[in-house]
Amino acid sequence: MSLNPKFDALHFPLLFPYGEDGYHPLIKYRSAFCPPSMRRQFVTQREYYAFRLQYRNGEGHTIVQAGKALQHFCIDAYSSIELNRLAFLCCHQPRLTAEVYQGDKMGHIVLPGTYIGSPRYMQQLYHDAMAVVEFFGNPDLFITFTYKPMVISRVFHAKLSILIDDIKKNSYFGKTIATKIPDPQQDLVGYEAVCKFMLHGPCGEANTNAPCVKGKCSKQFPKEFHSATTFDKFGNVVYRRSNTGVEVQKGSVVLDNRHVVPYNRNLLVKMQAHINVEVCHKGKLIKYLFKYVTKGPDRQSNVRNVLGNPNVGKTHLTEWFALNRRDPQARVLTYAQIPNNYTWLPDCKEWNPRKKGFAIGRVAYVPPGSGDVFFLRMMLTKVRGALNYAHLRTFNGELCPDFEKACEKLGLLSDTS
Ligand SMILES: [Zn+2]
Repeated sequence: MSLNPKFDALHFPLLFPYGEDGYHPLIKYRSAFCPPSMRRQFVTQREYYAFRLQYRNGEGHTIVQAGKALQHFCIDAYSSIELNRLAFLCCHQPRLTAEVYQGDKMGHIVLPGTYIGSPRYMQQLYHDAMAVVEFFGNPDLFITFTYKPMVISRVFHAKLSILIDDIKKNSYFGKTIATKIPDPQQDLVGYEAVCKFMLHGPCGEANTNAPCVKGKCSKQFPKEFHSATTFDKFGNVVYRRSNTGVEVQKGSVVLDNRHVVPYNRNLLVKMQAHINVEVCHKGKLIKYLFKYVTKGPDRQSNVRNVLGNPNVGKTHLTEWFALNRRDPQARVLTYAQIPNNYTWLPDCKEWNPRKKGFAIGRVAYVPPGSGDVFFLRMMLTKVRGALNYAHLRTFNGELCPDFEKACEKLGLLSDTS
């Protein structure tokens, strides 16, 4: 869909039989919904389509009840929104990338971390996750929650919120990861849910068209029977799977406990969805979650947002110095620990004592090879109560010429290479 207001009507004559205008960039908000603090005056393309895709009393339901034409319309709308966002980023490269990226003369388009799915976005999620792990320790469980595509995403979201609530407030987890088909005589509800959602297969030779089959099953089903839960040589958990004799007929194939994807009985019954619950160990799974970030070092990481450019006035970092100068209690914290106890007020650019809520801070990633900024970042994870840049690299009363030297003095570098 282009930004021409007639495009929708021409492309979907059945959805817009009167040739109504579609989206164009000059649709104003109604003043009643527009608080004075709002800087934008015009409806965005995403907002426009979000508005169209609703049931409303006193309005025809042509679009939302159009079946496959609705799906076509949604996909076109989504592609158009993405296309226009990318076009914006493409046209505004100099503004978005500023001095840090100027070394890149290859003509690459840089997607910022705010663009969902971009390498920078994935990288930031990964580093957030690592900061959370550092604060709370390693995760215990690895839960995957999926649905067949025919479930409306609103329903999925509602169930996902309930799941997260249950995990936070109710204790669904104890020793309760199961890998067996319940006995239908004793637990019919559980039996039905496991049969419906948690059986893997038939795949392999019985069904070579299954999505998991690449030669044989890529998820190594069917598993073996095991009398106890153990670890394999790679440190992965091997769950107990006993031969209880309970079997399920799927087409011409018989499935048993060797085909059960690990699950939690109460969660499964409540959510009526495929929820895989596994024991998690080490930070390995976090890394797996954000595997995109490991694809080579990123030469152009945005250092400005993190460390602040000392030439542009107040930054998080300069105001950390200011905070240390006026608040003795802040001096016992490292820079990364500041957000636990202080909030950043963007309007006056100041750290203020935190009154409510909770936040985990992290100093954003800077790749080795970024020069002194890399060593500055390293210092910030260790040093407490610095009053200014010079104080930050002063060790035992001696001012170091740069942050690399200061790191060395602090014993942060294992050798001088
Ligand atoms: Zn399989």
